[in-house]
Amino acid sequence: MSKIDRQKIMGILDEYDKEDITIATLGSHSSLHMFQGAKTEGFRTAVVCEKGREVPYKRFGVCDEYIMVDHFSDIVNEEVQEQLRDMNSIVFPHGSFVAYAGLDNIETIFNVPMFGNRDILRWEAERDLERKLMTESGVRIPKKIKNPADIDGTVMVKFPGARGGRGYFVANSTEEYDEKIETMMARNWIEEEDIKGAHIEEYVLGCNYCIHYFFSGLKDEVELMGIDSRYESTIDGLVRVPAKDQIDMGVNASYVVTGNHPVVLRESLLPQAFDIGDKITEGAKGLVPPGFNGPFCMQTLVNDDLEVVVFEMSARSDGGTNTFMNGSAYSYLYYGEPLSMGRRMAMEIKNGIAEDRLDEIIT
Ligand code: AMP
Repeated sequence: MSKIDRQKIMGILDEYDKEDITIATLGSHSSLHMFQGAKTEGFRTAVVCEKGREVPYKRFGVCDEYIMVDHFSDIVNEEVQEQLRDMNSIVFPHGSFVAYAGLDNIETIFNVPMFGNRDILRWEAERDLERKLMTESGVRIPKKIKNPADIDGTVMVKFPGARGGRGYFVANSTEEYDEKIETMMARNWIEEEDIKGAHIEEYVLGCNYCIHYFFSGLKDEVELMGIDSRYESTIDGLVRVPAKDQIDMGVNASYVVTGNHPVVLRESLLPQAFDIGDKITEGAKGLVPPGFNGPFCMQTLVNDDLEVVVFEMSARSDGGTNTFMNGSAYSYLYYGEPLSMGRRMAMEIKNGIAEDRLDEIIT
């Protein structure tokens, strides 16, 4: 199927009444602050919601319109798209939107104007593209080990697709790699197919900081919006167990994200945080034009040499933005008032309308 024609989306946008825009997204992931932020900036909000999942939107009162569907994936159905267009909707993408709508559908059949660069989503989903973007941008990432036979230190083993770290493991030798592959297979956490796609990289011993940025296409500038860290089962549970008992328990650590908490970086590390944001956005401009646009997140580990090493990225609003629905230490610095990622997105749309430059930030 051919890719969505940019001109077609611009045509739809042209027909919209700019005084009557709706901000819409799927009711999941990081949608609450998107809706709240959009309402604060004066937009109507619409949630596309799976039946039974509407409670938070109703109870928090952040949505004006409800498009109820049997399955989240129905957001790409023609009738739903039509309802969205009829409301002059601009869709804010997030992790669940991409997962349920499906990357192929977003690229080929989802004919609703979206905030951000829809082409960049694939660069997050495909590990090789992600590595290419980071390497060519000059961002420090973990060293890749091509063959399990070459393991000569501690490595982290990952499998295709975003799976909240399920099935990931640490190994110190080729033998241990083989053993753990067997264990993961026995648990049905990975399949034969996944082994072929196994990705082995240097284990970075450090603390986790997921840095949330906003790239303003209108200002051509990266803003540092907030930082979170992850709570992961079972690794965070295991570190609360004395070492002797950890060994007796004989469990393999897993990295299933269960929640997030807000953090701040040592101030002396902030230049690196900005440098990473600047480098990746510059690199993306050439590789996947027009590059980043709106929210994105660089997931990092900081080692005791105080190096910020990026192990993953989100090319859209990341779930960790929920740690600063009422603003973060950093987003506060820009405007002197609490500012969520969702509200910053809505502000960009508002500015785009005011400056008659919506076409630059919508795809
Ligand atoms: P991911 O699914 O890539 O977000 O990774 C899940 C978790 O695995 C992260 O939150 C980290 O705690 C851990 N992790 C990922 N890559 C590495 C690495 N190269 N070294 C050490 N820990 C890692």
